[in-house]
Amino acid sequence: MKKRWYDFLWILSLTYLVLGFFNILFAWLGLLCFFIPLILSVVKGSKGYCNRYCGRGQLFGLLGGRFGLSRNHDIPKWMKSKWFRYGFLIFFFIMFFQMLWNTYLVFAGTADLKQAVTLLWTFRVPWRWAYHGTLVHPGVAQFAFGFYSVMLTSTILGFLTMLLFKPRSWCVYCPMGTMTQLICKARRACTKGACESE
Ligand code: SF4
Repeated sequence: MKKRWYDFLWILSLTYLVLGFFNILFAWLGLLCFFIPLILSVVKGSKGYCNRYCGRGQLFGLLGGRFGLSRNHDIPKWMKSKWFRYGFLIFFFIMFFQMLWNTYLVFAGTADLKQAVTLLWTFRVPWRWAYHGTLVHPGVAQFAFGFYSVMLTSTILGFLTMLLFKPRSWCVYCPMGTMTQLICKARRACTKGACESE
């Protein structure tokens, strides 16, 4: 099958992760992976981002599929269940808001910039080499460290899930996937409601 330009977006995802090792401020670019899927699902009411444009999903597909790194086992039922997917989404949000709060404290001058990346919400890894000072406020760098922690953590989880189960098993409980699915459902319900009330 002929390849399209968006089949190579995995290169961008990989480049993003690599750039974070050299300059943490590149982490801000990761916001695109947050806003584009949300905007697409709100505007189009579809999971077009997941199906076509998600470089991370492609990366897992490539590593687990073509490179054969996946055991290709079925994902356990409990991982597909609503309580796990929604529970993980809530947990993700709590950790995300905690990260925003830490950023706020640095902006407010009540906490110092922590030049570290927190993996799996637990392990704090010094990351000083990727921060070269900035002309802007240290809070900008704090957000970058926090956001890169989120991106690296979800990549590690996705990679482990890929190793253990099918290549794109992470997509079953990926918070972005769950959120866009909820938006699409809500949009469909609204459209249906609008039709019924006409
Ligand atoms: S579920 Fe997550 S990782 Fe999978 S394609 Fe969608 S946004 Fe990408």
